[in-house]
Order: sequence, then C-alpha cells, then structure tokens
Amino acid sequence: MKTIVIGAGIAGASAAYHLAKNHNEVVMVDKQHQGNATAAGAGIVCPWISRVDNNNWYEIAKRGAKFYPELISQLKQDNETNVGYKKVGALRVSSDPAELDELERKLKDKQKDAPEMGDIERIDSERARELFPPLNNNLEAIYLSGAARVDGRLLRDALKRAAQKHGAKLISGGAELIQEDKHVKGITVNGDVIHSDSVIVAAGTWAPSLLKPLGVDLKIEPQRGQIAHIKLPETDTSSWPVVLPQTGHYMLAFDDSRVVTGATRETGSGFDYRRTFGGIFEVMNEALTLAPGLIDGTLEEMRIGFRPMGPDISPLLGPIEPFENVVLANGLGASGLTMGPYIGNLAASIIMGKTSDIDLSPYDPMRAAAFRNSFY
Ligand code: FAD
Repeated sequence: MKTIVIGAGIAGASAAYHLAKNHNEVVMVDKQHQGNATAAGAGIVCPWISRVDNNNWYEIAKRGAKFYPELISQLKQDNETNVGYKKVGALRVSSDPAELDELERKLKDKQKDAPEMGDIERIDSERARELFPPLNNNLEAIYLSGAARVDGRLLRDALKRAAQKHGAKLISGGAELIQEDKHVKGITVNGDVIHSDSVIVAAGTWAPSLLKPLGVDLKIEPQRGQIAHIKLPETDTSSWPVVLPQTGHYMLAFDDSRVVTGATRETGSGFDYRRTFGGIFEVMNEALTLAPGLIDGTLEEMRIGFRPMGPDISPLLGPIEPFENVVLANGLGASGLTMGPYIGNLAASIIMGKTSDIDLSPYDPMRAAAFRNSFY
C-alpha cells in the first residue's frame, strides 16, 4: 500500500511516521509555507484546563495529551530524543480565589476520567513565584502536574526523520492532486507525477486550494497568531511550568532560557504574514500584566503562524466523499500541537483499515458545515 501525505506539519509528519512504521510505502510532500502553524505554535499540552466547552473537542484533545508519552517512547526506540517534550506542569493563575475554587471542583471531577492530568494542588502566590519567578505577586494558582510543553518544530522534525528511517521519502515542493472520476490517482510535484493508492491531506490552512480543483469547497480559514520569544539570560527556565490565566493569553518556557508568550487570535487575517504593531502591543501588554518580571528580558523573536480553523471547534478527520482514498486531517485550530500527533496516528489507522479506540463520527469531515461539495 502506497500513501502520499501532503503536508508535513505536526499532523502529516505523525501520519507518515505511523504509516511507515507499519511497513507501508510513504511519500511525504511538504512546501513549508511561510506561517505554517507547527513552526509558530506555543506548545502547551494541557486540554484539561481550557476555555473550550465542547465534549467532542475535549475527548480528542484529552486523548491527544494522553498519547504523548507513548509517542515519545516510540520515537526513543527510533533514536529520536531531541523532541522538545517535557511534563513541566501548569499553573492556572487567578487573583480571584472563588474562581479557582470553582475550577478546582471541575478539575477534580474531570480527573476521574483523565488521571493523566496528574495531581491537582492549590498554591499561594509565593509558591507560584517559586515555580515561575517573573509572575505577578497578586496571583494564586492551581498547579496541575500532568501538563506538558512541546517544541513543535523539534517534534515535527523528529517525526519526519523517524518516518524516513522506516523508509518514507520526503519531497520538498507543492503538491497538486491528480483526479480521475471519483478517485485520486496521485499527485504532481516539481513537475513529476507520483501515483499512490491513497492520499492523506494534512495541508493545514492551505488545504482548501489543494481540494478546490476536485470540486470540494473546504471550510478552513487561516487565523493569524503572533507570539513572542523572550530570552532571560543566565536563567534556568527548563522546568518552569506553563502559565494559564483566565484570558486567552499564556506563557511557557523552554530549556534555552526562553519564555514564549502570546498569542493573538486574528480571525479574518487571511494569509497576511506580518508582525503588526497592534499584535506586538497586545502580546507585550498581556505578558507584562501576567509576569512583570519579564520586563528586562530580551525580545528575541516574534513568530507568526496561521492556525487552520474549521467550521466548528472540532477537527476534521476522515475520508472526503466521494474520494474514498483521500483522508483529511485538518481543522486542528488552536490545539493542534496537543492533538496533532494523535490525529496523525488516527489518519494512518484509517488508511490501514484499522479500527480506532475512539468514535470518529463527530469528526467526520463531511459533517454539514464543513463542505460544499460540487461533485454531485
Ligand atoms: P501546519 O503546521 O500548518 O502544516 C501544514 C503543512 O502543509 C505546511 O508545512 C505546509 O507548507 C504544507 N502544505 C500545504 N499545502 C501543501 C501542498 N499543496 N503541497 C505540499 N505541502 C503543503 N496548539 C497547541 O496544542 N498548543 C499550543 O500552545 C498552540 N499554540 C499555538 C500558537 C500559535 C501562535 C499558533 C499559530 C498555533 C498554536 N497551536 C497550538 C496550534 C497548532 O500549532 C496547530 O493547530 C498545528 O500546528 C496545525 O498543524 P497542521 O499539521 O495541521 O498544519
């Protein structure tokens, strides 16, 4: 069985890895568009504390977080250890103890069904600042030990390398689909024709233009996110937890004395790849309110990425009718680094005809809102 995976972001790279590991012939094709989401994503893996209130989203995001340790140990067996994943815990901070009381109750309830979220501990502002020193001193917190952070670029690249170790080919370029009646026969890329038995479309927010020639009008739109990377010289940030306030802005830290904070959510941005004055102001303002201790940090970089936003909050995963040999893995939105590796694995399972441990019907890409299909 030969499969072409179009797009090697977090979803496509994971799909290619799982297919190749299971002895399938795999060709990954990736154009590395400017603003690809995986390269800009913050990397928070903590679906248990989320402002999203949707059971279908929560189910797949929760399983996505649970899937990580298994994936990391599989990659270790393939000698891929530089993956940027670490369980550092999360601080859900607030200046309002009553708000934390309510959240603590909800978390304890969710914990019965998701022990992987780890321990739930209520901590005062002094302890919170021991864990994340730049934090505002008016914030108490709930500490959740199972939360993690991941460097999307490192994990994506590790998955691509591991897929190649299992025989997958990687082609750099933009793919176009070759259609024959209700079947996709393969692709053209860099002037070459490549045939395959099946195709996984994991092309992020660029998928609509790929599918349009097939008469498929996919409801995926780019949402720009601007996010700051701040260096704190000579500071060991490697174990600092993720910080989640009530607003949508957050911060997290990586091994190299780096704090990442953001992000804007600019619906309707189109593919406008710009660092805007307003975006920088919003990110800085929110960050310094949350953690005034960052004031002396070095602003190293503002990254820009386009989140692939679907017609609703849940991802789109499954065959695109009437093209039964084309599987879509898309609409990962603002939580694709959490669920992307798991969704890639599920996409690979669909191609291989394996049954999944999750009911995939809520994520069916053909659900009413997702498509206008002019094929029929
Ligand atoms: P992408 O990473 O965009 O990859 C799609 C790939 O397909 C690209 O490389 C592109 O070049 C390629 N492609 C497209 N068309 C073609 C073609 N025709 N031929 C060849 N290649 C093609 N998620 C979390 O879980 N936690 C977070 O903390 C988090 N923070 C975020 C912060 C920001 C600022 C942003 C922007 C996103 C964040 N996300 C987060 C969301 C997450 O990054 C995305 O949901 C996820 O990376 C999407 O992955 P993807 O593989 O679907 O798409």
